[in-house]
Amino acid sequence: MNIRTQIEERVRAVGLKLTPQRYAILDFLVRSREHPTADKISLALNRRFPRASRATIYNTLNALRDAGLVHEVYLDDAVARFDANLDRHHHFVCRVCDKLEDVPFEEVGELPARKLERGHRVENYEIVMRGVCAACQRREK
Ligand SMILES: [Zn+2]
Ligand SMILES: [Zn+2]
Repeated sequence: MNIRTQIEERVRAVGLKLTPQRYAILDFLVRSREHPTADKISLALNRRFPRASRATIYNTLNALRDAGLVHEVYLDDAVARFDANLDRHHHFVCRVCDKLEDVPFEEVGELPARKLERGHRVENYEIVMRGVCAACQRREK
């Protein structure tokens, strides 16, 4: 399935209208896989659509997030990074180059504790693994 069809189907499934801004942001996120911040998305899209204001892009991102079409990922700096990968997955962040990558859920497997000692029920979790990515390790040698 090509990206346009994929995006059209996702947006239709949640009952949103596919505006040009929504399409541009989703298309950018699906292709980039880099978990960009709103600022980075804004910069990149401004090169292509000079009339898309920062405010429009922020509002559009919030609408897409509220509809469940993009997820926010937070690291230590508390700046939201956006993710259009809706499959359940974890993340790996490289402490040298700061790259944030998807880790397929199957690579980690289920955590054993489904219920915590204090009685809390776990419904969902995602792991942020930290370390040095393969490319940075090669550069270190
Ligand atoms: Zn790295
Ligand atoms: Zn991700």
